[in-house]
Amino acid sequence: STESEVREFQAETRQLLDLMVHSIYSNKDSFLRELISNASDALDKLRLESLLDKDLDVDTSDLHITLDTETDGDARTLVVRDNGIGMSREDVVDLIGTVAKSGTAELRKKLAEAKDSSTTEELIGQFGIGFYSTFMVADTVTLITRKAGEQTGTRWSSTGDGTYTIADVDDAPQGTSVILTLKPVDTENHLHDYTDPATLRSLVKKYSDFIGWPIRMDVEKTTTTPAEEEGGEPTTVTTVETETVNSMKALWARSRDEVSDEEYEEFYRHVGHAWDKPLEIITLKAEGTFEYQALLFIPTQAPFDLFMREHNSGIHLYVKRVFIMDDCEELMPEYLRFVKGVVDAADLSLNVSREILQQDRQIRAIRRRLTKKVISTITEMRGSRAEDYQTFWSTFGRVFKEGLVNDFDNRDAVLKASSFSSTQSETDLVTLADYVGRMPEKQDSIYYMTGESRQQIENSPHLEAFRAKGIEVLILSDPVDEMWVTSGLEFEGKAFRSIAKGSVDLDELDDAETADDAEDQAQAEEFEGLLGWLGEALGDDITEARLSKRLTESAACLVGDDFSMSPQLEKLYRASGQ
Ligand code: ADP
Ligand code: MG
Repeated sequence: STESEVREFQAETRQLLDLMVHSIYSNKDSFLRELISNASDALDKLRLESLLDKDLDVDTSDLHITLDTETDGDARTLVVRDNGIGMSREDVVDLIGTVAKSGTAELRKKLAEAKDSSTTEELIGQFGIGFYSTFMVADTVTLITRKAGEQTGTRWSSTGDGTYTIADVDDAPQGTSVILTLKPVDTENHLHDYTDPATLRSLVKKYSDFIGWPIRMDVEKTTTTPAEEEGGEPTTVTTVETETVNSMKALWARSRDEVSDEEYEEFYRHVGHAWDKPLEIITLKAEGTFEYQALLFIPTQAPFDLFMREHNSGIHLYVKRVFIMDDCEELMPEYLRFVKGVVDAADLSLNVSREILQQDRQIRAIRRRLTKKVISTITEMRGSRAEDYQTFWSTFGRVFKEGLVNDFDNRDAVLKASSFSSTQSETDLVTLADYVGRMPEKQDSIYYMTGESRQQIENSPHLEAFRAKGIEVLILSDPVDEMWVTSGLEFEGKAFRSIAKGSVDLDELDDAETADDAEDQAQAEEFEGLLGWLGEALGDDITEARLSKRLTESAACLVGDDFSMSPQLEKLYRASGQ
């Protein structure tokens, strides 16, 4: 496996690359942000590795990123280099030769649907293309890398067609260099001159200023000194100086009014490996016993692994500006797994392990506080930015409601921040406060019906009488709804009651005394025979047949006992093998 070989990209990757090579995406500049973001991650990982592994023989005294350019006639090259963790040959095959992201099935589907180029823009933004974005600006991409602690390096190269070459190299410096053979400048198609120092400087400033490692660039400086003697020539000296282009200021340590929205957005894209805009930015600072700062984001778009077992948590943990770990799931409960960002704790040990984190009192305190803060932010968003809240709810509502089942301490707050579909409106979401405010005086429960879809629920005969009497019913069609709604949760002292279970006497809700006992009695006698016959004919399939007041058009419907499982819950249990 040591010699050079040509390998094929996996099918999805090939389609993705094709999309990149022919991209009309207007934000081609973002390839630089992606490369710098990867380099920064690699430096973080190396520093951490050297802290944890004392035997690792690497020099970590000058970790940095460099941008190097070369122009030779028409040929222009940009090199982004880091002396970070590097990659082994297997790493390169796994990480660069494959779409590492989960949700490849989804991606394949979208790529197949993307017939015209106008959907490209959207796709790129949605998937977050990472390393492959280099093919928007380069004809050939070459990567030379050597993993910290290893002797042999790897050279990877591709022109973005179906294949790449991979080979061992002996003289690779530790870390990674990405060498871009740039496409011709074409400003009309958003392809700038990425060998121009001024262009590079402004891109770094715009996208990567907050990166915690120096981003260095050699710039030529020309100085002219006047002639020493009269009539002589002035002397011009050109020197090359190395300049650090970024300010390296940790965004989370700065106060909110010092940081622009654009800076926050770019930082979000870096920590979140995202391409969308954050829907919400949350800053938090705690002083006193446990000192920490947090900068959190609620994304606009859902990652593709949101509902997968192996999804990543989006929280990075730092200790006094030093990166400790990404994917720190101890800091955020499962149901808030869509939240991304950074927590910087002052008093943790630098070589804290995941095992220690699980026991740590401080981590638990931070998690409690962050959880409350995220929930209250969502509640506020609903009050002040209805449209953003709508976006949030349609993207993450299903996940958020898992908190109603799993977070006993906060479930009332989660319930308050939640919204629901109801018979009140075809399109708008309602809050429980709205619902309770509209309840007839005598109604003591919040009525709901669960099902697979709004349409299925609306077609159900159970709804008839409620519709006829104008009594609002919550329409719950997410799988998680089955779980919380039967968990004994109440809202303002009102229990949740399924309209498909037990007996529902809607007459009781009427203000006028319409319930007529004599008429009920007469009806009961009239139908006695039929009910008896139904009970016998259906035998073990039903518990009893009874007269109902819930129907206005249909002749009969099936209802569950007060304490029985709904058909949806039965299905859920059966699917999970119980
Ligand atoms: P992402 O950064 O979202 O994981 P990318 O496509 O940008 O996706 O990168 C894929 C993976 O390749 C990274 O997760 C990382 O493991 C590896 N990688 C990329 N660039 C570097 C680098 N400069 N040094 C070390 N590893 C890298
Ligand atoms: Mg990346």
